[in-house]
Amino acid sequence: MNNSPVWHPFTQHGLGEPVPLVTRAEGAALYTADGCRVIDAISSWWVTTHGHCHPRIMSAVCEQAERLDQMIFAGWTHQPAEEVAAELCRIMPDELTRVFFSDSGSTSVEVALKMALGHFANRGEPRHRLVVMEHSYHGDTIGAMSVGARGVFNAAYAPLLFDVGRIPFPGEDPQATFDALEAECRKGAAAFIVEPLVLGAGGMLMYPAHILAQMHAICAKYGVLLIADEVMTAWGRTGTLLACEHAGVVPDILCLSKGLTGGSLPLAVTMASEAIWESHFSRDRSKTFFHSSSYTANPLACAAAAANLAIWREEPVRERIASLAERQQAHLAALSNHRAVRNARQCGTIAALELGSAEGAYLSDLGPRLLRRFRERDLLLRPLGNTVYVMPPFCIDDSDLAQIWGAIGEAADDLAEA
Ligand SMILES: *Cc1c(COP(=O)(O)O)cnc(C)c1O
Repeated sequence: MNNSPVWHPFTQHGLGEPVPLVTRAEGAALYTADGCRVIDAISSWWVTTHGHCHPRIMSAVCEQAERLDQMIFAGWTHQPAEEVAAELCRIMPDELTRVFFSDSGSTSVEVALKMALGHFANRGEPRHRLVVMEHSYHGDTIGAMSVGARGVFNAAYAPLLFDVGRIPFPGEDPQATFDALEAECRKGAAAFIVEPLVLGAGGMLMYPAHILAQMHAICAKYGVLLIADEVMTAWGRTGTLLACEHAGVVPDILCLSKGLTGGSLPLAVTMASEAIWESHFSRDRSKTFFHSSSYTANPLACAAAAANLAIWREEPVRERIASLAERQQAHLAALSNHRAVRNARQCGTIAALELGSAEGAYLSDLGPRLLRRFRERDLLLRPLGNTVYVMPPFCIDDSDLAQIWGAIGEAADDLAEA
């Protein structure tokens, strides 16, 4: 499709790379117009959880489409949204009592930031500074970029991005992270936003649960709100429903999207504690939470989410996740001592490693070369620089998974020889 008017996201069209045309998807695979079956090793950018075109989700959307397509959600409601909200309150931590709908991960983050700032504004407390972690990613809108890592992806917009407090990623020296967080909290920060356990777009960087617990404790000590951006980590990716569960942490605000509909339709929620709801609850209209987008709580997307929640209730999802985590571990272990592999790591169903040596100028184009190589092997596997990660839908079978890891192993062999 090289004469198309379509401008693709995160795509440099000037490089002239082919843009495959996909005509259908099923389970862990995409099928292209020219007859290839492509294994979706990254869940179509982290969204597809149970597999593509899950029959229950697809039929729920079809049934919903015959009744109600879209409607205003300001002051009106509909059954699929009520059902999703009630079920989320049932399965998510008890302290998260309120559910605000939107339509993407970035928007759920914008909503979270506005809720946190609104909370303090409505209480007449002068707190507006946000604290973030180095290497974080929270989306591509201006507010979400402001709380994310700065770099080539947003250099052009840097003058528009607002200032935030940044704490180091908890690597070798977690104490430095705790100290920086405590210093920011002491200065009267409003909120700390963080990706629990795995920093996705920052390079699948992982940190242990006890560090999340400690960061939460520091925030709590100073009344700083904890915003957990679980847009990528929720819905079983890290082995549990939420990554926060590993740490026994309940955030004040929780962002969910990607797997909320099983990865089938765009939908997001921002869940909030009762205290945040209460600071907006008033007879004073100026304390209203002023946020909406046209497709807030779209009924078709909510029907997909309700079906996803039913799948979590009624199918052996947790067993599938445990099995995938185990199989990922075996494949990763087989490569972890390879000469061309560094930092093999895993969190639940997510496995990641760096390919090639740490030095070498050619590394700058390793990512695109790997991408091309994997595409030639009919794999949708999109490295982040020289970080290769595997995050497939939970339904992936042994043979597909072996093909993915076989191709990574081959790439490592070639690099070791070069
Ligand atoms: C993908 C992602 C987002 C942004 O979600 P979109 O739906 O792409 O806007 C935000 N935060 C995290 C952690 C993500 O992985």
